Amino acid sequence: MQKGKINVTTENIFPIIKKFLYSDHEIFLRELISNAVDATQKLKTLASTGNFKGELGDLTIRVEVDKKKKTITVSDAGIGMTADEVEKYINQIAFSSAEDFMEKYKNDSNAIIGHFGLGFYSSFMISDKVEIETLSWEDGAKGVSWSCDGSPEYSLGETEKKVRGTSVTLHVDSDSKEFLEENKISELLDKYCKFLPVEIAFGKEKEWKDGKEVELEKDRVINDTKPLWTLPPSEVKDEDYNEFYRKLYPIGDEPLFNIHLNVDYPFTLTGILYFPRIKNNIEIQKNKIQLYSNQVFVTDSVEDIVPEFLTLLHGVLDSPDIPLNISRSFLQSDSNVKKISSHIAKKVADQLEDIFKNDREQFEKKWDDLKLFIEYGMLSDEKFHDRAEKFALVKNVDGKYFTLKEYEELIKENQTDKNKSLVYLYATDKAEQFSYIEAAKAKGYDVLLMDGQLDTHFLNHMETKLKESRFARVDSEIVDKLIEKDETRESKLTSQQESDLTPLFQAHLPGQEMNYFVSYESLSEEDHPVMITQSEFMRRMKDMQEMSGQASMFGNMPDTYNLVVNANHTLVGKIVEQTEKKLGKKLEELRAKKTGLSEEQQLLEKAKEGKKEEEVPQSEKDQMEEVNKKLGELEDKRIEMLKKHGKSQKLVKQLIDLALLSNNQLKGEDLAAFVKRSVDLIK
Ligand code: ADP
Repeated sequence: MQKGKINVTTENIFPIIKKFLYSDHEIFLRELISNAVDATQKLKTLASTGNFKGELGDLTIRVEVDKKKKTITVSDAGIGMTADEVEKYINQIAFSSAEDFMEKYKNDSNAIIGHFGLGFYSSFMISDKVEIETLSWEDGAKGVSWSCDGSPEYSLGETEKKVRGTSVTLHVDSDSKEFLEENKISELLDKYCKFLPVEIAFGKEKEWKDGKEVELEKDRVINDTKPLWTLPPSEVKDEDYNEFYRKLYPIGDEPLFNIHLNVDYPFTLTGILYFPRIKNNIEIQKNKIQLYSNQVFVTDSVEDIVPEFLTLLHGVLDSPDIPLNISRSFLQSDSNVKKISSHIAKKVADQLEDIFKNDREQFEKKWDDLKLFIEYGMLSDEKFHDRAEKFALVKNVDGKYFTLKEYEELIKENQTDKNKSLVYLYATDKAEQFSYIEAAKAKGYDVLLMDGQLDTHFLNHMETKLKESRFARVDSEIVDKLIEKDETRESKLTSQQESDLTPLFQAHLPGQEMNYFVSYESLSEEDHPVMITQSEFMRRMKDMQEMSGQASMFGNMPDTYNLVVNANHTLVGKIVEQTEKKLGKKLEELRAKKTGLSEEQQLLEKAKEGKKEEEVPQSEKDQMEEVNKKLGELEDKRIEMLKKHGKSQKLVKQLIDLALLSNNQLKGEDLAAFVKRSVDLIK
């Protein structure tokens, strides 16, 4: 029996392993089984090249847990090791400046393990003793046994092992008892080994018999050695993809469709990505893609390997070019990984384009669910934007789909304003904005439906991309102003009449929490008498800020609306007429007084001209103040008088309510009052 010391420059490597790698203790199983798989694959290669001429026999890798003895054993029938090999591969671990490295990566156990080829030694994270029994495939090889109790001392000797291969037995330490639970091991096997290419057996199949669970002869194989992504896409059917999806995500709806990646140049990458059905809340859907390296599970946080917007997808990626044990910082800087990332994005775009070209009908059917991904991609990835422009669709309120190009063609003629700007009209809610949509349609305009989660961002984005174009929501202006053309219509109201009309409307406008500005437009007599609009700019500011969750700057800002009065509508004319009948004389008097005062004001202004402030005599200053005060009082009086009159005008109230109603702003008590008033008016 040979005794020796494991060749590490750091005497106390095991305490370090135990201490720093605590968060990932469970990976020991992945490491041991990966070694067993490697040893088995190597033997198969030797057999296929004719170097190994014996019987391969049963190559199943077995995992056994003995709760009584507190051991876990992983055994394989792979190439095994000779004593020299054990010496070389297990004992002499080349640690160069191990301590420095440990210090640097102490929070990143994967980096340490990967860097040192510590795979096997990770078993010490959970054991106080590890034994290896191995018999090499080579002719005349003798069995070797190795054991180490967690100190750098090991023992190496011969053993009677008769069957080829290696078995590693861990004597689980008292802190790691959880790993002696069958359920725990099952869970880990399922997590890391589900798709390994060599059969792995854990215990025996069980069956219910006479109300009891009995063990059968048959091994319980926990893995699928030929997972779907390793097959050539031409051999896989649609239902296979769906079945595989269910295997990966037992709960969850059927995916929209999938993309089978199969790249062998400039790197090897296989995998299947699924577009899941997502309706809301993007966040919770992330971290669903599983990353494998030669069928060994590596991680399910793939942010660094997959472009941000594709982390919403589900499925698996497998690339031996992504090393099994990788640190985060390595991933971010690795150029191979960057290439893989942009390649995945390209492949996804290509496939989407194919589907769009070959089966547009199908593509349109799925568009509503798909659009979130594509908009997200276009927003966050310049290159993807350029690729997606070919197949990204927009939908109008009638449910018709167009590519961006097609849509531009459709509206170019009719929706270009007098400044040569192309105006894309959109609605965010078909029911709420119904009357505005109808008004736009009556003009021969087309209206897009933009009711998706990212649509507001998306249209902002598109405005920066499309030349001389802008988006306007149908209710952001009265229809004539949405797309301003050169034609102008005479107004039936003078500016004086307008100014007398405004207080009448103000007398009836609702609530403090919303601000309404009264304005006048000379529309056609057939248009609505009064309408409510909300400026595109203000609304978008609010939308954006709500979405980003920062309520500071605009959070307390009230919603601001425009109350647009149609100066040419007969009902408006009627209100003006009645007001003049009732208050005409008084208003006339007021105006006469005001004119007198204004003249006085002008004279005073003139006298002041060219003088410095201190040169103006005090008497003139006082006079000026007096005139201004009187003018202010007259104006207050005018407004008060008009408001009082306005209050009694049911028709004004009725017109405002009708406008509020078509903008979905008339609710509760106000709505009830409106109904009652309407009945009264008809009576
Ligand atoms: P790595 O697997 O990263 O090379 P390990 O420490 O896990 O590092 O293993 C070191 C070496 O020991 C392996 O490369 C292999 O040559 C040998 N080895 C480990 N486990 C086995 C096994 N089950 N069968 C044969 N050889 C093994």
